Amino acid sequence: MNDDKAKLLSGYQRMMTRVKDMWTHATHDDLHQYIDAATEKAVELEELSREEAEKISDYLRRDLNDAAEFIANTEQSLGDWMRFDLELIEARLLDTFSIMVDQTHASLDNLAEQARLAVEWQSGEITGPGTLYCESCGQEFNFHRPSYILPCANCGGVLFKRYTPDEEKTIES
Ligand SMILES: [Zn+2]
Repeated sequence: MNDDKAKLLSGYQRMMTRVKDMWTHATHDDLHQYIDAATEKAVELEELSREEAEKISDYLRRDLNDAAEFIANTEQSLGDWMRFDLELIEARLLDTFSIMVDQTHASLDNLAEQARLAVEWQSGEITGPGTLYCESCGQEFNFHRPSYILPCANCGGVLFKRYTPDEEKTIES
């Protein structure tokens, strides 16, 4: 892994930990304000450039929103969203990620009226724990920890998605 990849990946991990710490000592419960604060912190400490820090906070929000919307729309669990056994995720990471998803879930408004956004992940970006599939060939990739997304090992595709509840139905039928 080259320096840039490692930098983004550790930036994502550090941001999660920082947000969790701030949230644990929180005086209010707006998780997304803590993500903003953690973004500023990373820039202030010169761990990341502003552009990198904002990219990483977008990655983190994208994962949290996707998981929270999935759970809200389907009334299924975080495990159903991950699509693999939660025990495969390191306990502290799982704890941090679930708390964040719960908070994001709690702050979603009028969700029933919102269409789930069509979100894509690209190679070169960072994903949190969960499952992505290749848009071109459908190959599934399980991530048990935050990871740098590589091009699809099967077809070289660079765009990835997460399963939506509708696709789930198609697969089952
Ligand atoms: Zn592929």
